[in-house]
Amino acid sequence: MNLKDGVQFEGIHAATLYAIAKAEEIMGPILRSKVPAREPTITALRDGQHMATSLHYVGLAVDLRSHDLTEAEIVTVTATLRKALGSSYDVVMEATGANAHFHIEVSDQWLAANGDPRKKGVS
Ligand SMILES: [Zn+2]
Repeated sequence: MNLKDGVQFEGIHAATLYAIAKAEEIMGPILRSKVPAREPTITALRDGQHMATSLHYVGLAVDLRSHDLTEAEIVTVTATLRKALGSSYDVVMEATGANAHFHIEVSDQWLAANGDPRKKGVS
């Protein structure tokens, strides 16, 4: 697993680390079997430009590069990630072309059970 330059790993939630581990498990073998071999790459954690309310800013979302994968592989990886991560996470494709990426964040169900850090101070 590689980090794109400038990606801030500091302050991410353990739930995001778990999603990264699953993404490595699923994407790693596919990317390393390519010629030349590639590594899964995190393109954003708490850094980057996201909606003001994005879960990225509170360490509960991760973006992973998808443009090293074929369309068929993207479909497979998305389905496999959703199955592996279950109802505690949402896995979506964001953007198109060179900026296309997998966006993984904790689900509303996870936030309801564990608390939403974006609502700190509001009970
Ligand atoms: Zn994202």
